[in-house]
Amino acid sequence: MRVITRFAPSPTGRLHLGHAYSAALGRKHGARWLLRIEDLDPGRARPEFVVGIREDLAWLELEPDGAPIVQSERTHLYAAALDRLKAQGLVYPCFCTRADIAASLTAPHGDAGSAYAGTCRGLPDDPDRRAATPHSWRLDAAKAIAAAGGVPGWIEQDGSRHEGSAAMIGDAILARKDAPSSYHLACVVDDADNGVSLVVRGADLKPSTPVQRLLQVLLGLPEPTYLHHPLVLHDDGRRLAKRDQAPTLAAMREAGVDGRALADALGVGILPTGYRLALP
Ligand code: GLU
Repeated sequence: MRVITRFAPSPTGRLHLGHAYSAALGRKHGARWLLRIEDLDPGRARPEFVVGIREDLAWLELEPDGAPIVQSERTHLYAAALDRLKAQGLVYPCFCTRADIAASLTAPHGDAGSAYAGTCRGLPDDPDRRAATPHSWRLDAAKAIAAAGGVPGWIEQDGSRHEGSAAMIGDAILARKDAPSSYHLACVVDDADNGVSLVVRGADLKPSTPVQRLLQVLLGLPEPTYLHHPLVLHDDGRRLAKRDQAPTLAAMREAGVDGRALADALGVGILPTGYRLALP
């Protein structure tokens, strides 16, 4: 089977070496390598960062196959998937207005998503309240796991099998009133719709995989294989964060680094001096 991979940056800042590593690995493993712009967060996604992503990939000579897939242009697909889950009775409206609802629009790097107290779970349906009050839609994890016949596991690219457990899956937010899809829902709909057979992404996103696998089962979507790669760190163990003055790819380009040579090296796991790979 022809392996299809994707690079799915959120245009909320300039890319750094960690993104370049992920992109180079995805390119290496994919007979077809797609670029997906995850721009569903209206508060953080900015068009100039989409331009920046294209510039950085051009410099790295990592050319995506086909036109970029832009999530903000595909919200009808996510709405249709949510409707299917509503029809199955596996989601419920949530009227809570907490910071974690805002965070649902971008990938939850580093933790499995905050636990939800279940305040709105089991409320009687109230269409008038729904019409009058902004609300999000949450997965009813217990019902969803029962409907799927258990928590699905996943297979990594090296062939190892990983079991999921109910504790890895909370009542994840799937949509908000002002944003018709969360990261999780858009990700599974697009991975399936784009024919992605191997999901290449950082190991910091591994906590997202159980809930995404569950959504795939509930929506009858194919099961991809996963490559959760180590993260690029500074030699001293610091993450590549803006506050740590991690150089952007744009800055490396301006400093005269050869983008193509960098991408070739990253693709075989060779990093520039001063960086190393580590699992989170
Ligand atoms: N958009 C996510 C990010 O910026 C990537 C999500 C994924 O690869 O599943 O890290």
